[in-house]
Amino acid sequence: MTMQPAVKMFDYLEQFHEIEPQVMKAIERVTRSGQLMLAQEVKTFEQNFATFIGAPQAGVGVANGTDAIVVCLMALGIGPGDHVITTANTAVPTVSAIRMAHATPVFVDVDPNTALMDLNQLRAAITPQTKAIIPVHLFGNMVNMTQVMQLADEHGLKVIEDCAQSHGAQLNGQTAGTLGHAAAFSFYPTKNLGAMGDAGLSISADPELTKQMRRIRMYGFDETYYSEREGINSRLHEIQAAILNVKLPQLPYMLANRRRIAQQYLAGLSPRVIPMQTTEHVNHAYHLFVVKVAPDLNRDDVRARLLEKGINTGIHYPHPIHLMRGYAFLGYKPGSLPVTEQLSQSILSLPIYPELSDEDVNRVIQAVNEVVG
Ligand SMILES: *Cc1c(COP(=O)(O)O)cnc(C)c1O
Repeated sequence: MTMQPAVKMFDYLEQFHEIEPQVMKAIERVTRSGQLMLAQEVKTFEQNFATFIGAPQAGVGVANGTDAIVVCLMALGIGPGDHVITTANTAVPTVSAIRMAHATPVFVDVDPNTALMDLNQLRAAITPQTKAIIPVHLFGNMVNMTQVMQLADEHGLKVIEDCAQSHGAQLNGQTAGTLGHAAAFSFYPTKNLGAMGDAGLSISADPELTKQMRRIRMYGFDETYYSEREGINSRLHEIQAAILNVKLPQLPYMLANRRRIAQQYLAGLSPRVIPMQTTEHVNHAYHLFVVKVAPDLNRDDVRARLLEKGINTGIHYPHPIHLMRGYAFLGYKPGSLPVTEQLSQSILSLPIYPELSDEDVNRVIQAVNEVVG
């Protein structure tokens, strides 16, 4: 038994302590400005985040990452009867967003080495009803967008990047969120860039699409009390934007820490845990550090024994969406996405967050290597 405190998957307070004075000042700035909704802080963040990813147009701040996907789908005119291809090994919100836009999710299997969308399966799944693709840049890795965009162009499809886990990831030097027709980001507190509540952003290089996004996030308005189109209410709050404005300048340093921790894991872990491969030419953003346990190991046993040693771990994700009761109506049966189903039994996420100390990373490596033998 260890007497040290457990290694956590994420610790919001460790990060907050470092920036508390600036955050408090930012909150005070908003509360005293008399401007609580869609004012200067939101505008500043929309511009500065676009600059960070190298996008030509400011983004559109929305209430959360799920809405960010919905706003992209609506702006692209995706709706009832339209099929949207994505993966079942993702966070549920990717799929709930497709349903919120009244479209139909279609799942393709994933590559066993990356757990990302299998692009051969994608090609095979395209039908005349297919209108859009949502590649999910899961774990901070990226789907090969060069190939996705080529397929999309061949078939006249729209592509929305789900960047909720990939702030700062790059493919051939181009940052996630600048490679599709539109992209959605989440700033849920645990993400690579996190607010202190819900927050999200939709973004596109296309000015017309951006204009539609801006309308959609507030009832379809350009001017007060007049809808140019159907919209929803999904505003990014000024206080969350102000907090994001404090944290955005630190994102490069936080990403560097995630990448440094990942390198320590890659160098130190036993070959009996197999790290997910990084897509070629990708600079990974390491939102999560995911490994597969060797075939003769029981993942849940490994997990329980790590917990005994004071190491928290996660599973991303334990239940493929197509087999969840809430999505049974989509009609998928066990065995329909074999790689996704198999991975859900063998993957394990190790602690990775910018404030994790070298000492704790070494504790994790040592504990994993002891447990897997
Ligand atoms: C977190 C997440 C979302 C949704 O973000 P919310 O802000 O929680 O709505 C969407 N997709 C993926 C892959 C995520 O990890």
